[in-house]
Amino acid sequence: MKAAVLTGVQNFELREVPNPQPPGGGLIVKVETCAICGTDVKMYRFGYSAAKLPLIPGHELAGTIARVGEGIQGHREGERVVVAPNIPCGTCFYCQRGMQTSCEKLQTIGVHRDGGFAQYVMIPALAVRQGCVIPVPEDISFEEAALIDPASCAINACELSRVKVGDVVVVIGAGPAGCLNVEVSRAFGAQKIILVQRSLPRLKQAEFTRADVYVSPLREDVVKRVMQETGGKGADVVIVACGSGEAQEQALEMVAKRGNVNLFGGLPKNSTFIKVNSNLIHYKETFVIGTHGGSTRQCKTALDMIASGKIKAKEYVSCRLGLPDFSQAIKLAEERKGLKIFINPYER
Ligand SMILES: [Zn+2]
Ligand SMILES: [Zn+2]
Repeated sequence: MKAAVLTGVQNFELREVPNPQPPGGGLIVKVETCAICGTDVKMYRFGYSAAKLPLIPGHELAGTIARVGEGIQGHREGERVVVAPNIPCGTCFYCQRGMQTSCEKLQTIGVHRDGGFAQYVMIPALAVRQGCVIPVPEDISFEEAALIDPASCAINACELSRVKVGDVVVVIGAGPAGCLNVEVSRAFGAQKIILVQRSLPRLKQAEFTRADVYVSPLREDVVKRVMQETGGKGADVVIVACGSGEAQEQALEMVAKRGNVNLFGGLPKNSTFIKVNSNLIHYKETFVIGTHGGSTRQCKTALDMIASGKIKAKEYVSCRLGLPDFSQAIKLAEERKGLKIFINPYER
């Protein structure tokens, strides 16, 4: 089969590699589509300690089951599926407490093992047992289904930020993660959603999310505007869906008393420290949390939200390319051209 193999930092090769074989209890999925994620860009640009090279990356994938390993029940060849890429061990301290995203032995497809930028991918037995292989209804396209991974992260964020009916929510950052946080916040009952993004074209591109207010720091003072929009009280929840320390600091200023600030976007490795007026947190009784990733349950909820139109998955599909265009696809994702770039391994 053909595969895009990461052989070193900033080095991809389109290679002919042996087809994977199904292990007992595992599956082979014919990859119809695999979206590029920020993690893939990072892995390409800087390497990734968890990833041993050479590696076929790609974790936001959907396709059809090509082969069913021995002893599998409940799946069949030809079944349309999407894969929840984070495989929890199911037995560690955190898994037993239902905290899959903190699993001590978490295995991610496309990071710890070969992933979806190839014509076929092997799904191990543990993933099947943990319910990571999720059937996709006929009326949902593979590309729409592949959005469950980033969408599950937004669901995890809104759950842990306690977004509830009637809330004012600020989302900072209008990339795919920011847009998903807007849509999920709305589904959770947020009354007013304020979306903040510096770049004006990117802010414009996010209008499909139907946020209530669109704010760019190029045009106005963001904290001041949020205070105006909330009668001087601040927002109930602020989700920082970008890698900016400055945005994290501002979030603490614009949140209401006993509000929640979620540091959803990680900061670049070399600048992880921010300056905080700790008295703001003290006197406002602020809850500051961080979230990353999503669980298998949240991936299933994401698929339901895509099916019901609460997440308008089609709007995220910006571009489709084939495996030979892999480096170009990474570049487009890095330059933030569009929301999601998809690699369809059978194109061209
Ligand atoms: Zn991802
Ligand atoms: Zn675990």
